[in-house]
Amino acid sequence: MAKKDYYEVLGVSRNASQDEIKKAYRRLARKYHPDLNPNNKEAEEKFKEITEAYQVLSDPEKRKMYDQFGHAAFSGGAGAENINFEDIFSHFGRGFGGRGGGFDIFDELDDILGGFFGRRRGGGTRTEERRRAQKGEDIYQTVSISLEDAYKGTTISLEVPRYVVCEKCAGTGNEPGSQPKVCPECQGTGQIVYNAGFMQIAQTCPKCQGQGYIQEPCKECNGRGLTLKTETVKVRIPPGVDNGSKLRVPGKGHSGRFGGAAGDLWIIINVKPHPLYTRKGDNLYIKANINVVEAIKGTKLEVPLIDGKTVEVEIPAGIQSGEKIRVAGKGMPKLKSSGYGDLFVIVNVKIPSINELSKKGKKLVDELEKEIPKPEKRFEKAD
Ligand SMILES: [Zn+2]
Ligand SMILES: [Zn+2]
Repeated sequence: MAKKDYYEVLGVSRNASQDEIKKAYRRLARKYHPDLNPNNKEAEEKFKEITEAYQVLSDPEKRKMYDQFGHAAFSGGAGAENINFEDIFSHFGRGFGGRGGGFDIFDELDDILGGFFGRRRGGGTRTEERRRAQKGEDIYQTVSISLEDAYKGTTISLEVPRYVVCEKCAGTGNEPGSQPKVCPECQGTGQIVYNAGFMQIAQTCPKCQGQGYIQEPCKECNGRGLTLKTETVKVRIPPGVDNGSKLRVPGKGHSGRFGGAAGDLWIIINVKPHPLYTRKGDNLYIKANINVVEAIKGTKLEVPLIDGKTVEVEIPAGIQSGEKIRVAGKGMPKLKSSGYGDLFVIVNVKIPSINELSKKGKKLVDELEKEIPKPEKRFEKAD
């Protein structure tokens, strides 16, 4: 049978622009693509025909030759004759073959059909590419640290059980050395095509996960492509973390399947209660007990700090129980900015009962009673 004219095949005029040729091919490829016409020999032939015509006419050099010499231009084995359709169909799910050398129409077809079929581009071999990459799951781990560690920041070593790419099958999920069989569900296309009104919708075959073939599952990972492994992950905890702070360690979640990116590891911070300090945001609170005389006369206290040092705090004469003295910059470091919160010293006046006092003490209190006037205003509105 004589070969049809390439221009006729694509339905374009002899002086069609490259753009018109591409558009025509795009339209026809979508119509006759084997994925959309399963078991349709006629469509397959047509698809071969238009692809061959496009391969020549989309290349200005080859098109010039064709314009001059017709089909005879390529009878020597150059040009369109060397298209390996097995490769095209293997690429689109008709077998297991690899990619033929130097044939860029694969990329072209990816361009044209990629969006339409929703195929993933890039990475992996052509066969693997059809299997949808899946991003790994994130892992969440709660870590309890002391307030001191939250203040200074620390580095912790975590034992994280995570799914990693199976070494035995290199993540393919297939038993090494086993032979692939054409998937009975999708007949090797990797896709299930069904009609939805006037549209055809292609979905990744669930049985073979778009691979087009099924294979004995890897015994190590049961076909999952991932195995559970406990890894030690070092995590730097920055100063200033608080209860519920989340730290992300990128890529330390579960590994992805079929070349997908790994998930993240999330560290959720739990700061253990401290015996001395109460924390509210970036501020710390400590209670300081003083006696009545200290309250009357005022005093100086060496107040312990979270960093282990102390600070001298002046307690003014006449301080009331419950009053707070602010020590600027001696609280917790701010996680999201520089600087520190404050330390508040809450004064608590310990008042002894008269019965706890010595004879002399009792006498002095009796004398003091005469010297300290009763409050002028006995009652007032509560705070
Ligand atoms: Zn495996
Ligand atoms: Zn299948």
